[in-house]
Amino acid sequence: MTSTAAPAHLTASDRCDRCGARAYLRVVLPGGGELLFCAHHGRAHEPALRAADAEILDETAALTGTPPTAPEGER
Ligand SMILES: [Zn+2]
Repeated sequence: MTSTAAPAHLTASDRCDRCGARAYLRVVLPGGGELLFCAHHGRAHEPALRAADAEILDETAALTGTPPTAPEGER
């Protein structure tokens, strides 16, 4: 029985609150609310959200399918 809210990863069913696109960022507000943003709106609102002391969880990398170990020497 675990009552702690583990940070669930975003899925394809999570949608941006602003435009309905697939959500890539989860924002936890100080008051306990939660917002989901696509990459575009996440970036757009990030300054204001940080100013409001919100917690921003960027899962862009996890959703784009980027391999955990990026090949080096390909610059
Ligand atoms: Zn959006």
